[in-house]
Amino acid sequence: MLSGSGDVWGGTVGARSGRGARGTVAGLLAAALVSLACAGGGLAEPEGERQAPQQSQASPGPGTTRADSTTSVAEFEQDVADAQAIAERYWAAQFKASGQRFQPVRRITPYQREGEVSCGGEPLPRNNAVYCSRGDFIAYDVRWSVAAFREVGDAFVFYLLGHEYAHAIQVRLGINYSFTIQQELQADCMAGAYLGDSVRSGALTLADGDLDEFREGLAAVGDDPDQPWFAEGSHGTAEQRTESFFRGYERSLEACDLG
Ligand SMILES: [Zn+2]
Repeated sequence: MLSGSGDVWGGTVGARSGRGARGTVAGLLAAALVSLACAGGGLAEPEGERQAPQQSQASPGPGTTRADSTTSVAEFEQDVADAQAIAERYWAAQFKASGQRFQPVRRITPYQREGEVSCGGEPLPRNNAVYCSRGDFIAYDVRWSVAAFREVGDAFVFYLLGHEYAHAIQVRLGINYSFTIQQELQADCMAGAYLGDSVRSGALTLADGDLDEFREGLAAVGDDPDQPWFAEGSHGTAEQRTESFFRGYERSLEACDLG
């Protein structure tokens, strides 16, 4: 379907930035999303291009970049907080329904400097984000994430938080597949279920185009077609990831093989 290059974002991005930034933005996005998806305490380096966020941002005026806007950071963090609240409510209800106690993820931490946050003694580098199972927290480089999400749209924040949160749920349920790809596709399915169920319950309202945003975002984060499915760090092809997400979105957790 996709090769992870700029095909998905090309039109919009090129038009907005006027710099033909197709590959750059797609690379930035892929790096953001791939590394966000890395979980379980592993601190895999982001894949794709490493770019400072402002390099791929459309400039609103000379000498300024949107990535530097405190407003955009605040908005992004508000979206993260909203997504966190919805995820916590959702999983608390699921656990309660099966008679189990639910422990929310300990914290969700933005950081700006290399080494500001560590996971299991390993400092988190800039331009990264992870779910750290050792400390039971999610951490992300805030400026870099904001830059990426300005391009993909706000709805996708809800997917990503949901995907990371799903890794925390897997840990709580003792789910530990042999292959990364199984763990990742299940997390995509669980992210779909939390979103679909939250929309159905009225806890979350999607705007026009949000479903397309999920679809396009998932297409952009698929593995390179040459990546062996059994390789450490595999997340699934664009098709697999999209299928898993929407299976959960449409059919809820029963579709996610939680056992
Ligand atoms: Zn993941």
